[in-house]
Amino acid sequence: MDLQTTETVKGGGEEEERGRKRRPEEEEDKEETSSSRKQVDHSVKVASHYNRLQEVGLAARSQSRIFFMRNFNNWLKSVLIGEILEQVRGAGSRQVSVLDLGCGKGGDLLKWRRGGINHLVCADIAGVSVEQCQSRYEEMKRKSHINEKIFSAQFITADCSKEVLSEKLDDPKLMFDICSCQFVYHYSFESEQKANVMLRNACERLKPGGYFIGTTPDAFELVKRLEASDALAFGNEVFKVSFQSKGSYPMFGCQYHFSLEDVVDVPEFLVYFPLLEHMAKRYNMRLVLKQRFSEFAEEKVKKEHHRSLMMKMMALEPFPCEDGGRPATDTKGEYSHAKEHCGSTGVKLPLGTLSRSEWEATSIYLVFVFQKMS
Ligand code: SAM
Repeated sequence: MDLQTTETVKGGGEEEERGRKRRPEEEEDKEETSSSRKQVDHSVKVASHYNRLQEVGLAARSQSRIFFMRNFNNWLKSVLIGEILEQVRGAGSRQVSVLDLGCGKGGDLLKWRRGGINHLVCADIAGVSVEQCQSRYEEMKRKSHINEKIFSAQFITADCSKEVLSEKLDDPKLMFDICSCQFVYHYSFESEQKANVMLRNACERLKPGGYFIGTTPDAFELVKRLEASDALAFGNEVFKVSFQSKGSYPMFGCQYHFSLEDVVDVPEFLVYFPLLEHMAKRYNMRLVLKQRFSEFAEEKVKKEHHRSLMMKMMALEPFPCEDGGRPATDTKGEYSHAKEHCGSTGVKLPLGTLSRSEWEATSIYLVFVFQKMS
């Protein structure tokens, strides 16, 4: 589920440029064929989906129907990362090392730069994304001020739900202060084995006191909405979630399809959180925080510096719409909550909001923080 990254799907045609021998669709076909013999392994589908996504420029991004929602999710990650870095520094860590598990195209590189970390390991199953992440990092370094020390970095293409990352580290003794897994962990809940390997990668190299942080869909919320629907799907003008059945939900491999705006369907799996919490105990991890996006945002926005970052990142849509501007959607009812709020509080000043559809999409998610006990 790609709610945050600034990417959109374009058709084929780029493969030749990248010198790839086989088109992603062919990889999928190959996978489907073998599925008649064994269970489908969705990793190939997920990797080719993300490999096909293209970066788009700021101008195109600002035209997106979900521009503000993406910014909102990005703001939320910035707050989470910033607060965890504060904790790590408060505990006396001087050389901060981070593992970005499922880094994508490097959407969080600037957050790590702002946080002044020393070393970053970026890993992702999608090779094209890892290449773009690395180029972005190198450009960032090239353009940085002479006096700014940018963190060192390693880039790894690997299926982190199958391969053990510690065997691939340039520094075999490296230990992390933070593992950040943003909008990724749910892909591994395809099977117990995959969820375990992903968790091992997230936790085994954490220093005592280190953090495993992330964002993932809340299985309870997804099931609640599915059960409330007359069909096997629910959604609105920006997203759609569809299941194959309802009433019974296996602990692992409970698949659904998610589609969002111009992002094609991608298979995802329910993460039953109490189970993740239980599994994490194997790595001596204690759950410190689990909050729905709505609760997390409501709490953080009370702090002035988070609020000003929110403005800077344009994480909310101005309401009423600014002079000369157009709302993200003209659909009736998409801003009725904001109108009601103005009416009930008598507020005349411009507010910030998200359209109803965007809010329904982002409010599926939760934030989690685990800490490694010493
Ligand atoms: N974390 C990035 C962010 O927040 O911008 C990217 C999030 S994107 C929604 C999900 C990412 O998870 C994709 O880049 C995808 O390739 C990656 N991913 C999915 N399954 C994976 C796996 N088994 N191993 C490593 N990466 C995986």
